[in-house]
Amino acid sequence: MSNIIVQKYGGTSVADPKRISGVAKRIISYRRKGVDLVVVVSALGDTTDNLLKLANQVSYLPSEREIDMLISTGEQISVALLAMAIHKLGYEAISFTGAQVGIITDSSHTQARIIRINAARIKRELAEKKIVIVAGFQGADLSREITTLGRGGSDLTAVALAKVLKAKACEIYTDVEGIYTADPRIVPAARKLEMVSYDEMLEMASRGAQVLQTRCVELAKRFNIPIIVRSSFSSKGGTMISKEAKKMEKVVVSAVTLNKNESKITIRDLPDRPGVAAKIFKIIAQEGINVDMIVQNISRTGYTDLSFTAATDNLARTLRAARKASEEIGGGTVSADRDIAKVSIVGVGMKSHSGIAAGMFDILAKNKINIEMISTSEISISCVIRKRLAQRAVRAIHKQFKLEKP
Ligand code: ADP
Ligand code: ASP
Ligand code: MG
Repeated sequence: MSNIIVQKYGGTSVADPKRISGVAKRIISYRRKGVDLVVVVSALGDTTDNLLKLANQVSYLPSEREIDMLISTGEQISVALLAMAIHKLGYEAISFTGAQVGIITDSSHTQARIIRINAARIKRELAEKKIVIVAGFQGADLSREITTLGRGGSDLTAVALAKVLKAKACEIYTDVEGIYTADPRIVPAARKLEMVSYDEMLEMASRGAQVLQTRCVELAKRFNIPIIVRSSFSSKGGTMISKEAKKMEKVVVSAVTLNKNESKITIRDLPDRPGVAAKIFKIIAQEGINVDMIVQNISRTGYTDLSFTAATDNLARTLRAARKASEEIGGGTVSADRDIAKVSIVGVGMKSHSGIAAGMFDILAKNKINIEMISTSEISISCVIRKRLAQRAVRAIHKQFKLEKP
């Protein structure tokens, strides 16, 4: 194993010059202990959101190549500023874009996958005892086109670098002290978890706990890379994400998550015959859109309605694809509902327990919250509800399963 530690600092942690200086001091305290540091940084504060807003102000459907050209600039600002802040403290540091450090991706703009990383440059700089600072969330394809790795993608950059550099640790520094039983901003009584398994973290991430990007957890699981999530504002021990360990808490439900970034799309009056769903979801997949939940009504008349959820970020493209599909099949109108939210419970212990779903539905009913869609997996249950009731639902479910108690 190497003497390398990969650390990633998120947007809130580097939101302004004062915080950037704070991060620089923290990095140096590790450097003094003699470790080789590779630091991945996100864009300052809400930079990425603001850049996307700008894009949408000039175009309804901006080209994805140009979106990547635009939003990759956010991280380029933060790496340069962090390097300067470290220099000021008298230490050597050098900043790089993703392309410069050999992060090669495929060409799927805005959600590119890393194909390989040529880490020679990083290793050279580390050998010269420099702190290496890498722009998160970005790479370049084989034609040197700039790509980005999907929202929250700096987490993925960190885990991928930890893998190729055989780092002895991968630490994700953020604005909370670790992984909690629910978003601590919504549930003040939420409890910090000491350990979380890859499978639970995957389920939590894909169901809305944006604290880690789903693809970063997938990668960590595949190569068995432990991740530590901790605060960039305190020195408290964080949460370890690793393989399911014996000492892990044997609870049934570990966490509640909330996703407010999906919309429900409904296609009406579809002919009820074989091949219709196949055709619709093929067209939608060709647009690169990931569909989450799907429900189809029972047909009484030979025609049926079909609803599915997908990320609101891609809503314009999703609607375009759904309308195209409906037209080709001879279906009816297509509508979108943005006012939904998905609440989920996650826990490996659910595999061997019954009655958990009933408990969740019951507490929603007691709170007069109507369930519009349901989906389950071995270790999770999700319900789509009205967005304005989402926070109340999360708090009630957290209480129902007594998640605040160890
Ligand atoms: P960063 O900018 O550091 O990448 P993010 O905003 O992406 O940070 O993720 C951290 C946020 O994730 C926290 O501020 C918290 O509100 C939210 N979050 C949602 N669910 C959880 C959870 N179960 N545990 C901890 N944080 C959570
Ligand atoms: N800045 C990017 C985003 O906001 C990447 C990241 O923060 O991880 O999605
Ligand atoms: Mg993040």
